[in-house]
Amino acid sequence: MPTETVSSPTNSQQSRARRSLDAVSAESLAVVGGGVIGLSVARRAAQAGWSVRVHRSGQPGASWVAAGMLAPHSEGWPGEERLLQLGLESLRMWRQGEFTDGLPEQVITARESLVVAVDRADVADLHTVADWLSGQGHPVIWESAARDVEPMLAQGIRHGFRAPTELAVDNRALLDGLAAACERLGVQWDGPVGDLGSLQADAVVIANGIDAPTLWPGLPIRPVKGEVLRLRWRKGCMPLPQRVIRARVHGRPVYLVPRADGVVVGATQYEHGRDTAPAVSGVRDLLDDACTVMPALGEYELAECAAGLRPMTPDNLPLVGRLDARTLIAAGHGRSGFLLAPWTAEQIVSELTPVGANP
Ligand SMILES: Cc1cc2nc3c(=O)[nH]c(=O)nc-3n(C[C@H](O)[C@H](O)[C@H](O)COP(=O)(O)OP(=O)(O)OC[C@H]3O[C@@H](n4cnc5c(N)ncnc54)[C@H](O)[C@@H]3O)c2cc1C
Repeated sequence: MPTETVSSPTNSQQSRARRSLDAVSAESLAVVGGGVIGLSVARRAAQAGWSVRVHRSGQPGASWVAAGMLAPHSEGWPGEERLLQLGLESLRMWRQGEFTDGLPEQVITARESLVVAVDRADVADLHTVADWLSGQGHPVIWESAARDVEPMLAQGIRHGFRAPTELAVDNRALLDGLAAACERLGVQWDGPVGDLGSLQADAVVIANGIDAPTLWPGLPIRPVKGEVLRLRWRKGCMPLPQRVIRARVHGRPVYLVPRADGVVVGATQYEHGRDTAPAVSGVRDLLDDACTVMPALGEYELAECAAGLRPMTPDNLPLVGRLDARTLIAAGHGRSGFLLAPWTAEQIVSELTPVGANP
């Protein structure tokens, strides 16, 4: 299987990776990072026969905060053709069911996205995305009576498109489910890693999100902050939306992602170092926009405000592939780590020689 380092870290790392394309035979694998990427890789490698140890920090990363949309169409934007392609490939893996095999059924919380627009400029933005998707061979279903599809939408919201194959997952239930699956497969847990040289394993996967450059200096990953809210349904409130609702509200994007007990509202996106304090202005904008789209949400309980740090790369593509004979990278998944988890796990495991393949 050829190496695919989707978005190459640096030239020197790239050439080191090319020099070591011959896969090594290894029995033991250390995975650094216990977010959605580390756990997905660990589970898949254990299924493939590796003896896997996951090193975790005890600190919640982006995966704990995320909304959990699996949304290559509605997340798409002209210029991100490769990301669309990877997202669609990974969504197909999600939908085929192998990745969710053994996970609780409730992990999937929505099976369609409806993307709507509030003013004329917002409608024009949606047309831009819809036309681009059609041009890529992935037409969406245009709606001019969006409230017929989702009656909880505010009066006056008419235009939008449906992406009927998109999904959403409960991020926290998924992390718990993946960790439980790892345990069933005999994956071992260990503490944080300060230095790759201290690891005994035959192969190592760096999967610690925004902290990957601390283990492999030069990796082009930076934190991009996002506030996100969790609203809980209460007795007497209007019912939950049935699908993911994404909207443009006077130029600002907002999404509402169903959960068993409420909705996740997200998300802001801006650079502010490693700050994970939810800022008042971010929370206010999200609440304003969410209630503009679905006024009934005003009656829900504001259960949680949080902020997470997306591990972003300069071209928004993840870094997935080999760094040297022993080390692989699976980080930099930006705003799509949940969507891209199945694809990433397959890529990484295909890089590792099947256990017992070499004499
Ligand atoms: C607000 C928000 C909303 C999002 N919504 C979506 C969405 O709807 N759909 C989607 O697909 N993606 C979404 N994302 C993106 C997604 O959350 C990330 O791409 C994904 O979580 C990255 O996973 P990860 O495992 O690489 O990193 P993380 O989840 O950050 O996990 C890395 C872990 O490694 C640990 N660690 C760090 N250093 C070390 C060390 N030295 N040793 C051991 N452990 C270490 C960290 O503490 C952390 O627990 C969202 C992100 C944010 C912030």
